[in-house]
Amino acid sequence: MIKTDGRKIIRTEPTNTQPMHSDSYTTKVEPPYSYNSHNIVHWEPESKKLLVFSQYMGGDPVKLEIKKHAKSWLAKAGTFLDNKCIEKKTRWKYICKPLDGYNKTTYSIFINQDPTGPEMECNCQGFQTKIQKGEEPFCSHCLAVKQFIHINQHSRAPPERISRK
Ligand SMILES: [Zn+2]
Repeated sequence: MIKTDGRKIIRTEPTNTQPMHSDSYTTKVEPPYSYNSHNIVHWEPESKKLLVFSQYMGGDPVKLEIKKHAKSWLAKAGTFLDNKCIEKKTRWKYICKPLDGYNKTTYSIFINQDPTGPEMECNCQGFQTKIQKGEEPFCSHCLAVKQFIHINQHSRAPPERISRK
């Protein structure tokens, strides 16, 4: 929706022509050879979606609720990656180790083998509270695991540098 205040045009919501899950703004760009906690947010699908939500300016309460968490989820996931908190234990289980001076708990993130359920389940309070409230469960630990998996699956060797000397 576009509102006019007399002087300039204010864009209040993302336009409907651009779907939330759109890949359109990255498809023309070659993916990076190596991912890190900064560039991963533009490539891992869930992070890209949250980035869009974090900039949402409209009035839809569901989207605003996600917006409330999106920035902190993205920031925390980046911190977990930077501090090498995520570790793969088995094909179906990852852990998120505690951050020094932030918390003391190691959380477990399970990949759901049942495709009808949520994709991942975390044993942290935030995730479990959302399940109890009947809300769509998600947390920064799950986001960090998604980014971790993307980094490991998509990083590739850079082309050999051609020396001009
Ligand atoms: Zn969690």
